[in-house]
Amino acid sequence: MESFDVVVVGAGPAGSVAARAAAEGGATTLLLDHRPELGHPVQCGEFVPSAAELADLFACPALIARAFEVPPGTVLRETRWMTCVGPFGRRFRFPLSGFTVSRRAFDKALAYRAEGAGAELRHPVGVVELRDDEVRLAGGAAVRARTVVAADGPLSTIGRSVGFAPHRAMFRMVTATVDGPLDDGIDLHFGRVAPGGYAWRFPRAHDANVGLGVPALPPGANLDALVRRFARSAGLGSVREPTHWWVPIGPPPASLVRGRALFAGDAANLVMATNGGGIPTAMLSGCLAGEAAARHVRDGRPLAEYDRSWREALYGPLERAARIERFGERFAGSDPLLALGMRYIGASGLDAMMRLRWPSRLGGGS
Ligand SMILES: Cc1cc2nc3c(=O)[nH]c(=O)nc-3n(C[C@H](O)[C@H](O)[C@H](O)COP(=O)(O)OP(=O)(O)OC[C@H]3O[C@@H](n4cnc5c(N)ncnc54)[C@H](O)[C@@H]3O)c2cc1C
Repeated sequence: MESFDVVVVGAGPAGSVAARAAAEGGATTLLLDHRPELGHPVQCGEFVPSAAELADLFACPALIARAFEVPPGTVLRETRWMTCVGPFGRRFRFPLSGFTVSRRAFDKALAYRAEGAGAELRHPVGVVELRDDEVRLAGGAAVRARTVVAADGPLSTIGRSVGFAPHRAMFRMVTATVDGPLDDGIDLHFGRVAPGGYAWRFPRAHDANVGLGVPALPPGANLDALVRRFARSAGLGSVREPTHWWVPIGPPPASLVRGRALFAGDAANLVMATNGGGIPTAMLSGCLAGEAAARHVRDGRPLAEYDRSWREALYGPLERAARIERFGERFAGSDPLLALGMRYIGASGLDAMMRLRWPSRLGGGS
């Protein structure tokens, strides 16, 4: 049986950054993904904040500099504004710099960077189980791993294998494309369009990504009908190619280490509960997991060092996001109440909440 120091399961943003960090740290590294084409189909809104915005949320500039690099050829549009749209159409605009990216290109670019650093990339190869040091593959083969990075997304197979089950709500998500408009802002819509969640429009180069996420489907509703209704009500025209997926929303777990497995990204529940954004935290956690795995196999350092490093960089803001999301849930059942609340805190309050601060009209602070 083949043996590797580190086997990374999943070549999304978390896994590819982890594989690169592990290979650069001197570990023999295998990166596996069951997709025939990495990054496709796209199950994402494809928005990432700028590094400066990210540094405003997470006080870890050195980690952001080494882990959060948006491959330049994958950027579709630079955006400068976010607009939150209330249930009755009132708009609250504030500055937020970021990019829309082609996830289809982005995931490939990150995986090829891991290959460039010395990791071996194999796909399509499905992982069905982790048993002791054996990573079992679809079709019956297996490889041996001293350490495993579980970056296999919200329905993590490795999580099921080792009994890692963080507390969370699985939001049902749908994403699709429409023709436009193509400006330099991203929009989030709240209220009946996406009960308990939100809908979005993110402009790409020549079309716009639209979609929505909800904690549960209203009785008799389905995701395709909801996204069509949203696009119609927002004047965005007809939607194309809807795809469905999941986003885990909840507080960050206390530990991301189970035996020889280190969890990163969606598999670890590291999504911003306030807006479902998980690409940056996937990359940051992936980097820390890959580095900890390499230190473990090279220098015998304990895998628990990963818990120390991700908690220091990510725990506080992610936990605040979960608290803000729980606060917002109080308004989710009533459009008039939600509209009133949004009007009360205003654009500056919504801006503060997106930046994980309490609006000054609710007492400020963190
Ligand atoms: C509709 C939607 C819109 C979103 N919009 C945004 C957004 O605009 N901005 C943002 O920041 N975040 C967004 N998110 C969240 C973001 O997509 C995720 O947080 C991010 O992709 C997490 O990266 P990851 O590497 O942890 O997991 P993933 O990107 O899910 O990658 C996991 C990889 O593991 C592979 N895999 C899974 N199981 C196995 C297995 N058993 N064997 C082998 N390979 C396996 C998969 O093929 C996949 O390539 C959105 C999510 C959804 C669903």
